[in-house]
Amino acid sequence: MTDTMQSPAHIPAAAGAEPIIRIEAVDKWYGKFQVLTGINLNVAAGERIVVCGPSGSGKSTLIRCINRLEVVQKGRIVVDGIDLTAGGKNVDSVRQEVGMVFQQFNLFPHLTILQNCILAPMRSRGLSQEEAETIAMKYLTRVRIPEQAKKYPSQLSGGQQQRVAIARALCMTPKIMLFDEPTSALDPEMVKEVLDTMIGLADDGMTMLCVTHEMGFARSVADRVIFMADGKIIEQAPPQQFFSNPQNEKTRNFLGQIL
Ligand code: ADP
Ligand code: MG
Repeated sequence: MTDTMQSPAHIPAAAGAEPIIRIEAVDKWYGKFQVLTGINLNVAAGERIVVCGPSGSGKSTLIRCINRLEVVQKGRIVVDGIDLTAGGKNVDSVRQEVGMVFQQFNLFPHLTILQNCILAPMRSRGLSQEEAETIAMKYLTRVRIPEQAKKYPSQLSGGQQQRVAIARALCMTPKIMLFDEPTSALDPEMVKEVLDTMIGLADDGMTMLCVTHEMGFARSVADRVIFMADGKIIEQAPPQQFFSNPQNEKTRNFLGQIL
């Protein structure tokens, strides 16, 4: 609790509580290329983390490991008590707990907004169509586009599509939300509506890991900013400290380029 802009509703887990995400000594290779080296990261329930760093530093790979879209060759990843490195049978259960939002929205183009939102809850959670639709409308209302439910993704703006992607992820009632540069593909005038949606989630206490270079968002929402370079976590600090007094030269160079 370091930032004066923390919302009062935000109560991070007590220090010493079991972290909801535990990453220990993780190494990962793509073939012979080592993409992650010695990654250690604990995330408390309710914590909001922003991950930044140069292109190619391994940010996407790291967060994709958390819902096992990528496997690691060394080390351990435990998400809400589920050991992802222990064997294949845990994959489905972790995907139900971890929602992910991508740069390119990844909505199914041939399905309506509502159909996009009810698919996974019906298939993975076994909800009836009626139950799934009720939940979908709740979250589409939450992201302020319930009136778009019967349309197809191509009929929506980029900002609206990304808000649908967030609503779709929320329909699985995840405990953790991962965002991989969710505003990078948007026209500038649509960035705010998506960030506002993310701020709303943060205010509700969602555990969030966001890869983003939106440093205003990092300053106002993050509990911790993590800087990656060359597959390693180089530096991490609360935003105030991270921006005002970066310790590593690579961090200073990076901030000099983007701020
Ligand atoms: P970032 O998100 O920080 O830009 P990524 O995690 O996407 O970084 O990629 C890190 C490095 O791994 C880059 O050099 C990239 O080219 C490489 N890489 C990413 N995905 C793959 C893959 N599926 N196969 C081989 N190399 C990959
Ligand atoms: Mg990336």
